[in-house]
Amino acid sequence: MIVVMEQGASDAQIAHVAALIRELGLRDHIIKGTERTVIAAIGDDRAKTKENIENAPGVEKVMPVLARYKLASREVKKERSVVALGGTLGATAGGEKICIIAGPCSVESRDQLLPCAHKVKEAGATALRGGAFKPRTSPYEFQGLGEEGLKILAEARAQTGLAVVTEVMAVDQVDLVCKYADVLQIGARNMQNYNLLCAVGDQPKPVLLKRGLSATLEEFLLAAEYIISRGNPNVILCERGIRTFETYCRNTLPLAIVPEVHRISHLPIIIDPSQGTGHAHLVPDMCKAAVAAGADGLIIEAHDDPEHALTDGAQSITPQTLKETMKVLKRIAEAVEREI
Ligand code: PEP
Ligand code: MN
Repeated sequence: MIVVMEQGASDAQIAHVAALIRELGLRDHIIKGTERTVIAAIGDDRAKTKENIENAPGVEKVMPVLARYKLASREVKKERSVVALGGTLGATAGGEKICIIAGPCSVESRDQLLPCAHKVKEAGATALRGGAFKPRTSPYEFQGLGEEGLKILAEARAQTGLAVVTEVMAVDQVDLVCKYADVLQIGARNMQNYNLLCAVGDQPKPVLLKRGLSATLEEFLLAAEYIISRGNPNVILCERGIRTFETYCRNTLPLAIVPEVHRISHLPIIIDPSQGTGHAHLVPDMCKAAVAAGADGLIIEAHDDPEHALTDGAQSITPQTLKETMKVLKRIAEAVEREI
């Protein structure tokens, strides 16, 4: 359930209600909005009585939260969340400004990443992607450079100011990745790795949560709920396509998820048109469609030499194509009352 406090409720009244919630054996989660404070009571509240909370001073009403995801739902928080990505270029997801995260699928070397980082920045990106730990279908394929890759990413940030977005694949990598990254990416294959979700929820850096290959929207939001309920509200959802019977593209990219997420959740949602299509020639148009649909950002694979990329070359555009696409995206953003 959620407890909606009256406008102007005092800190003491809020603390009192939080204590009452804990007395019921539930966890309290205070969300201060611009107009009023709501307190979510987390846990199994089916048998709990709400009368004593309803009568507490400063309480306006107590309401059940119908969605299974509570803290991720719009029932609990009406205002859209804005998540700061880090870096020095002011990248955020969820505000008026659409964030562009671009870079190679994997960090391959210093000579590959640093020039690419400068070029995506010049094209208009404010964050840099690049995997140092890669989830590969085959154990014989390039698995990423590990910590060396993270160091190269940090060097790219120092040179450009771009926020660094990179994947963490396992609980025992979280501290290491946090040392270098600004945003922790949870890959599609790990969306339901609940131990990992808890581990990234236990630290404060923003989390880019990718949708699982066969996850429903409810499962996706429940995965976000794991992270938020551990105390980290900085979750950015990322649609990267789902597996269907279709074969002309690597995945099927359901853009309708963007307005639907905005209807039922306050979390920002960005689109990955690279994993979403698997083909570089489809990426610019899906970027345009995503911005038109209201996406809060894009994460795009860009590589200087896609033909020789160690991973995902077929779906990587060049920084030059990114630059050209950005010109159109700016106009589309303006048409839907956003900015890039
Ligand atoms: C990636 O971003 O390169 C990646 C592996 O993504 P996903 O987890 O969506 O497949
Ligand atoms: Mn990739």
